[in-house]
Amino acid sequence: MNKYCIANWKMYMDKSKIDSYFEDFLHRDFNLDCKVVLCPSSIHIDYVNKLVDNNNNINIGSQDISEFESGAYTGENSLNMIIESNCDYCIIGHSERRQLFSESDANINNKLRLLNQTNVIPIVCIGETLDENESGITRPVLENQLKRIFNNIDLNNSKDCIIAYEPIWAIGTGKSADIETIYSVHKFLKNIINEINTNNCNICLLYGGSVNEDNAAEILEINEVDGFLIGSASIIADKFYNIYNKF
Ligand code: PEP
Repeated sequence: MNKYCIANWKMYMDKSKIDSYFEDFLHRDFNLDCKVVLCPSSIHIDYVNKLVDNNNNINIGSQDISEFESGAYTGENSLNMIIESNCDYCIIGHSERRQLFSESDANINNKLRLLNQTNVIPIVCIGETLDENESGITRPVLENQLKRIFNNIDLNNSKDCIIAYEPIWAIGTGKSADIETIYSVHKFLKNIINEINTNNCNICLLYGGSVNEDNAAEILEINEVDGFLIGSASIIADKFYNIYNKF
């Protein structure tokens, strides 16, 4: 199973921040057995791609795509557009898209269906709210999300598919899920994944939610964790690189 260290820069990085990020970052060694993916804002994908041009160890992803192929959808970016910008990865279903922009599992299912017809690797986010967690319904909530998102999708087995378990209460809060929770939820999710993965694809299961330099090594000891999707700690080049070095 491939390992991934993925940076979600959200809407934090303007061009001057990107320039300073890369001052040291591009000269670092990326020889570990772990793929690095940077996900800038869509308007900066071309810019970042040019900066990392001859560095084959750094991949670029989009933070989202439209569920429509083309048309009158002001402000949206189509899958074709991110392919033209040489994106190899695409996040879909991030909790901020679900909570702030009312995205549903049905919308995410449409996006996954589009991505499944191309070589762009999906990074599908799932996760439960604090209320759901405290009511003890984390597992059925995650199972329903997965079943709805992967509904009627015959996975493309020539490429990886990435699922990121991101408990919503752990995102950007500085409070990661504890090791026992990550272990048991990932074990549970791997079983569900086996049920939906009839084509035997490489489905990699990442953890996301307040991953930092201090907790990364311990979380990576869990066999069922194939890497991280990282927000806050990924916008500081040194912190992100230090996490990468724990793989
Ligand atoms: C995220 O937004 O996907 C995320 C995991 O954020 P953070 O690392 O800041 O919790």
